[in-house]
Order: sequence, then C-alpha cells, then structure tokens
Amino acid sequence: MKRIGVLTSGGDAPGMNAAVRAVVRKGIYHNLEVYGVYGGYAGLISGNIKKLELGSVGDIIHRGGTMLFSARCEEFRTPEGQQQGIEQLQKFGIEGLVVIGGDGSYRGAKALTEKGFPCVGVPGTIDNDIPGTQFTIGFDTAINTVIDAIDKIRDTATSHERTFIVEVMGRNAGDIALWSGLAGGAETILIPEENFSMDEIVERLLKGSERGKRHSIIIVAEGVGSGVDIGRQIKEATNFDTRVSVLGHMQRGGTPTAADRVLASRLGAKAVELLMERKGGRAVGIVNNQLVDYDIIEALENKKHQIDTGILRLSKELSI
Ligand code: ADP
Repeated sequence: MKRIGVLTSGGDAPGMNAAVRAVVRKGIYHNLEVYGVYGGYAGLISGNIKKLELGSVGDIIHRGGTMLFSARCEEFRTPEGQQQGIEQLQKFGIEGLVVIGGDGSYRGAKALTEKGFPCVGVPGTIDNDIPGTQFTIGFDTAINTVIDAIDKIRDTATSHERTFIVEVMGRNAGDIALWSGLAGGAETILIPEENFSMDEIVERLLKGSERGKRHSIIIVAEGVGSGVDIGRQIKEATNFDTRVSVLGHMQRGGTPTAADRVLASRLGAKAVELLMERKGGRAVGIVNNQLVDYDIIEALENKKHQIDTGILRLSKELSI
C-alpha cells in the first residue's frame, strides 16, 4: 500500500488530533503518502481530500476537537453515498482508510469494507461504548472534566447542605457516569446498564442525612433519562434542597490528558501497521494495556459494549 487516507467522523473527542498525527507520522515514517479527508463522510462524498505532510500535523497533539473536522452525514448511510465515497478515494489513488470515530462511524467503515474498500476503525469517542476495546480515545479526558466539575460542585454542596444531581454524557453507555462517579466520590451513580429504584435512592439520602452528611452528589448518565426529572422526584420525596447541573458539551472539549494522547498515538500507529499489511476490515483497541485488532463487521454484528462490573461493584462498596 502506497497511499492511505484518514478521517474523523461523528462526535468529536479530545485526542482525535493525536490519533490523526500518529496516522500521518507513522505513515510517512514508512514511506506512505497520507491524505486527510476533511469533514468526515460528508467530505469523503464531496472529495474534500488533501495530502498531509509532517508539518500538517504539527502543534495539534495537545488540542481538543479535530483538525480534520467532523460531520454527521445522512447520505453516507445509503449505498449510493458509500459508492460515491469509494469513487473519490479511488480518484485520489487512496488504497486504505483509517476511520477515527464512534459507533456510527464504525458502521460507515463496515459499509466501505463490505463494498471491498479496506478500512481500519480507531475508537474515538468520549462515551467509551465501542465493543472490543476497554478504552476509547477521549474517555479519560471527559471523565477528568467531569470530576473537575464534581469537585467544584462538592464545595458548594457542602457549604449550603444541598443535594446535587449531575447529569453527564455517554449516550446509551454508563461509563462516563460510573468512572467519574467513582473518582469523584459520588453517593449514587445511575447508569442505563442497571435498574434503579427511586425508593432506594431516597432511603440512602435520608440515612446519609441522619448521620450528618452535609451534601450528596448523584451522578446520572444521560442514557438513564433527564437529570432534571430525577432531581424533581428527589426533591418531592425528601424535601431536601436539591439542585441539578447538566454538564453538556463541555465534556467533549479541552486539552486531551496524557493517557488519551498516548492511547491515540498507539492506536493510530497500529491502524497504519494493519493497512501496511493490507489487513482491512479491522478495528483496533486496547485490552489489558495490550493493543488488539479484530474484525469490524463481526464486532458490530455480534458484540456489545459491556460495563466494567468490577468498577460497578466497587463504586457501590465505597459509597455506603
Ligand atoms: P459516532 O461515530 O460518534 O457514533 P454518528 O452515530 O453520528 O457518530 O455517526 C457518524 C456518521 O457515520 C453518520 O453521520 C453517518 O454518516 C455514518 N454512519 C452512521 N451509521 C451508519 C450506517 N449504518 N451505515 C453507514 N454509515 C453510517
């Protein structure tokens, strides 16, 4: 393989830039030409494709967002859109494509692979919801952003004796809530992977109050429902001074942590290695600190992202 492409797609995540940099530098190191596709699959269809040099990816390793920009593109869900994308890649002489993104972006890569164009998926999403990898690029930065917010909220919660409900992102996965809840010392963590009873939550809050706790922090994953609704129910049941904080898109931005930069560099480089071996139709990941690669089609069809049950159990044991 002489010429490869790279794109970022779907929701942006801190560390995507470090992954793009790794793909470009690793490719050039091995005498490949690397082309950047700007604006995700929309840019692929329209042919917004430019050659990247060593200097094109200078000064981006520490920046959030993605220098290749991202987009959501309905047209790429159609066979016609996908065919147009392949034609653009062929026009530029590109023989393999690295797709950095989340679950939806992987489905696009799967579609291209099924049409005969070799793609490698690199997991870039704050949600940590990709099957086959323990961690995704952006997750570590996002949970650090969340615990920064929790720490600040804790100060004011203690001062005013308040119960705070903090709604965090994660789409249908509870990973951001679970990990930031454990790291932030939350009393209760509500995630979509597990049923919860409002009676139990209220009982815990009342017990905590009896033993003199001045504050409670409840983390709600967006996949569970609205933090505002849960806050209202708690207020009605306890009459505690309750406040709701919806953290929102700040969780997507910011300087990537060292862990995310290292992970992005490793996974980006691994994706290039696979393309050099002409191994398309793969996704890369990390399991027990070892890089892995696996069949992207099989993973999307048969595997589901799982919550870490050990972390879940521990979070309960430590928040009694
Ligand atoms: P993420 O990659 O963060 O999960 P999305 O779910 O929005 O983000 O997906 C990003 C893009 O991937 C979509 O806008 C679309 O262009 C493409 N995509 C998503 N699902 C499919 C699919 N089933 N087939 C082809 N392309 C898809």
